[in-house]
Amino acid sequence: MKVGILGAGQLGQMLALAGRRLGVECRLLSPDPHAPAGQFAELIVADYANEAALAHFAEGLDVVTYEFESIPVEAVEFVAGKVPVRPPAAALRTAQDRAEEKKAFARIGMPAASYTIVDVSRDLRAAAETVGLPALLKTRRHGYDGKGQIRIDSLSDLERGWVSLGGMPSILEEIIRFDRELSLIAVRGGAGEVEFYPPVENYHSEGMLRFSFAPAPRMDSQSLERAQQLVRRLLEDLDYTGVLALELFEKGGELIANEFAPRVHNSGHWTIEGADTSQFENHLRAITGMELGSTDPCGVSGMVNVIGREPDVARLREIPGVHVHMYGKAAAPRRKLGHITVVADDGDGMRTAIARVRAVLARV
Ligand code: AMP
Repeated sequence: MKVGILGAGQLGQMLALAGRRLGVECRLLSPDPHAPAGQFAELIVADYANEAALAHFAEGLDVVTYEFESIPVEAVEFVAGKVPVRPPAAALRTAQDRAEEKKAFARIGMPAASYTIVDVSRDLRAAAETVGLPALLKTRRHGYDGKGQIRIDSLSDLERGWVSLGGMPSILEEIIRFDRELSLIAVRGGAGEVEFYPPVENYHSEGMLRFSFAPAPRMDSQSLERAQQLVRRLLEDLDYTGVLALELFEKGGELIANEFAPRVHNSGHWTIEGADTSQFENHLRAITGMELGSTDPCGVSGMVNVIGREPDVARLREIPGVHVHMYGKAAAPRRKLGHITVVADDGDGMRTAIARVRAVLARV
């Protein structure tokens, strides 16, 4: 089996490493000659618009997937003309446009924050009246890690906010005063079978994921079952194969969809050591038609992202139960350089170890 991956960041790197364990060979394509995954698998360096390079990339592959949400969907569709692409390009097209994503949530009856489309600046005022302020102005496309969104507190902020986001087609979205953020990671196999990892509790700051804890404590089993049912519907609606992550807000026990990622997800990194089968292995299993592996957790996991600065890896390794993953990227502000996972027997053990990890990371 030979799998092609469009994009070659850390998600591609972890897919390629999982591939090695499964006996699946990976070939990646990225415009970045220093892309992290290139350290572990064949990397074709080319622009996503280069059709000759895409055709060369597709040669001899059994299936192609993608690990990066901003890949031009035209590149994915071009490759899909040569090799099966899983998840389908249409899932990427939906996830790339916040308005299309909201429509997909509405189609399947998934609760989501209310919103209004603002494609031109003259729509701003009416949108603010409909949604109410404060609200979040989010560009329809190319928003990730908190980029492409701004909080609007008053009518006088509207125009300034719009200009600061580049005057792009956007949505104005209701602010949810959530109790916590969660994610649900699902995998759908080639025969339509669906497995879920335990829900994950996530902490963001400045729009970036900082920590994840799994299984999320204090989950209401009824709302979890309902959310899982809706994710099944979403997977069917998108004719999906592979891993999908749904980010959710929990408010008063209700689960409200924020966005979905049609790929393996940062909030699932803990599955490498903390679950029977990692999200990376299960994604490869799904897209190559293998049987899915168990998604059961083995213990209680915590994950901390290493962002912006190199950590003191030697000190981190002194902490029992710690697994250090550095991606080989040059340090830069707001860049995800690696992640640390802790697996413990119980929540207390996990929280103690995570506090030590955070102390080491803060010291650098
Ligand atoms: P996003 O890029 O949409 O995932 O947003 C990044 C982070 O911003 C989320 O994880 C939340 O912490 C916050 N956020 C996004 N949308 C909302 C919302 N409608 N209400 C409250 N917080 C939000």
